[in-house]
Amino acid sequence: MPQIHMPGSRHGCGGDPRLCGPDGFPLPYQRHGRTYYWYPYVAGSPQLTTLLAAIHWIETTLVADGPVRQTCDADFASFGYGIPFSERWRDRAIWISYNPLPAVNEYGATLGGTLDITIAQNAFDRGAHQVAGTIIHEFAHINNAGDGSRAEQTLRQCGCADIYDPHIVGSLRLPRGPSITRA
Ligand SMILES: [Zn+2]
Repeated sequence: MPQIHMPGSRHGCGGDPRLCGPDGFPLPYQRHGRTYYWYPYVAGSPQLTTLLAAIHWIETTLVADGPVRQTCDADFASFGYGIPFSERWRDRAIWISYNPLPAVNEYGATLGGTLDITIAQNAFDRGAHQVAGTIIHEFAHINNAGDGSRAEQTLRQCGCADIYDPHIVGSLRLPRGPSITRA
């Protein structure tokens, strides 16, 4: 499973070194008048409790063998890098951070060129299922979904058809900076 950004977590900078803090996580990133943050989770916080519930749901529904795993993996195998969801889930280089941004149309973001996902407070306000859907959407971007609508479509095949939003605008992949490269 991906790793949860906790106080003291560190990893290598995944993209442009100018966009990384000393701990390797992205520095606050400004886009379209908003600032995106990749903060650690606070032990015992409601956000961490909700995140753990979302991860548990993903592991029991999309990673454990079953019919939803099959449709979800097949969808992920059909676009971008073509890596099935349950396979990519084992990638320990993917990190999940916290974004306190409260905007009601903000859900999640992944900094281009990195494996750093951040989940917005708005998603936490809507509960563990919304957080799970946001993680799936961001994994679709990591699988090189390209635009947000293709990323969002994965929710229909991954047990989240009830929260699929064809007009979603707030769960975006932040673009690569001009000098971001990826090993
Ligand atoms: Zn998106």
